[in-house]
Amino acid sequence: MPIDATQPYDDDNLFAKILRDEIPSKRVYEDDYAIAFHDIAPQAPTHLLVIPRGRYVSWDDFSTRASEAEIAGFVRAVGTVARAAGMVEPGYRLLANTGGHGGQEVPHLHVHIFAGRPLGPMLA
Ligand code: 5GP
Repeated sequence: MPIDATQPYDDDNLFAKILRDEIPSKRVYEDDYAIAFHDIAPQAPTHLLVIPRGRYVSWDDFSTRASEAEIAGFVRAVGTVARAAGMVEPGYRLLANTGGHGGQEVPHLHVHIFAGRPLGPMLA
């Protein structure tokens, strides 16, 4: 079920548990600001999720409440993950589903990275 992007942060959400290593994940990167791991149901040959360490529900929550250091750290982490995986060429796609109409299901901000094949035009 898509979430309400304005809901309060839930410390028991799935990605909070992955951050605390209470649920296993195939982690590919971590630093002070973010971790990255493989999506459990990949929709491209490479499908990674990058999440901030901070407690942010959505892109909206993050972009309004996070510090400049957290924002810079997270954006750099997304780029670093893609670069380290050799995706810069032939390219990749970033996606941050937000709230109900965005189809966001997990209430901890995450950026999807898709790569490994031509991804075609953007979804409608
Ligand atoms: P959203 O729809 O919220 O943007 O994306 C949530 C993503 O989390 C989906 O792509 C889904 O496959 C992924 N996902 C759901 N449960 C798990 C899990 O337990 N582990 C991992 N690694 N990914 C998950």
